[in-house]
Amino acid sequence: MKEFKSGFCVLCGRPNVGKSTLMNHFVGQKVAIVSPKAQTTRNCIRGILTDENEQIVFLDTPGIHKPKCKLNEFMAKTQKEASIGADFTCIMLDITQPVGHTDEKIIKEYSSAPCAIVLNKIDCVDRQTVLDYLTRLAKFDISVVPVSAQTGEGCDELKKMISQSLPAGPKYFPDDMVCDFPERFLASEIIREKALLNLSDEVPHGIGVSINRMQEQDNGNISISADILCERESHKGIIIGKGGTMIKKIGTEARQELEVLLDTKVYIELFVKVKENWRNSAAALKDLGYTEQQITSK
Ligand code: GDP
Ligand code: MG
Repeated sequence: MKEFKSGFCVLCGRPNVGKSTLMNHFVGQKVAIVSPKAQTTRNCIRGILTDENEQIVFLDTPGIHKPKCKLNEFMAKTQKEASIGADFTCIMLDITQPVGHTDEKIIKEYSSAPCAIVLNKIDCVDRQTVLDYLTRLAKFDISVVPVSAQTGEGCDELKKMISQSLPAGPKYFPDDMVCDFPERFLASEIIREKALLNLSDEVPHGIGVSINRMQEQDNGNISISADILCERESHKGIIIGKGGTMIKKIGTEARQELEVLLDTKVYIELFVKVKENWRNSAAALKDLGYTEQQITSK
């Protein structure tokens, strides 16, 4: 039997080059939000490709840009951190765009470890354009793989190249898991934080937050539906507050912070549910994301 291999592959490049599309292609389903609008991928999303002999964990990082808000800063950090310790880096370029100053910077910055320049969107141009582009990239002395993340052309060659640089390693994630949701975790942590701040000692430790739905609408707004879990009926009343004032306050504060972090309008719908002993239930904890990487808002 072949030795199992696993590792991390970072997708980096300017916004809109097709990082999310490529990851979705490899993972085989939609795990990252793809949109023509820059910056839809707000933080590091992991897409997981598992087959018989190997597991590749893709890190679809936000584009590189100047930090202008708290979240952008967080995202820039995420990209930098993700590339450290990666087994392979795909430096993505969009063939419909000229190689710009930012691209050259990214190539220089990320080309020390095993990597390839992934020349995406070849479905948009003719052969000659691809050849011309390759000539222009020759000076960097890095392998170039022309692909179309949309049609899948060239992606098998890229996957082979990534596989070759994977070390022997464990299966980090179960077979059926294709992604994790740090964005959801971020949302639940912020709601939990606001609840704890407002409730002070009245409901000691006994709350958890479970995100039932987190969706980006066509206009870019995000709507979230979440449960606040508590252990006692009496706690439920406190969390809701007189005439719903407390739950409203928690929702408003969480919304305001998430709007800054996500840089868009956010709607939050909160429900309070009594779930006795939820803190001791492994299933409930898994539901709440506690087995996954914890990302906090600070
Ligand atoms: P990201 O910002 O790098 O994650 O880019 P996205 O994956 O969100 O893609 C940006 C835009 O380019 C979207 O409108 C995609 O549909 C489009 N796109 C991505 N890959 C391809 C490709 O191979 N061919 C074409 N024609 N469009 C693509
Ligand atoms: Mg993206």
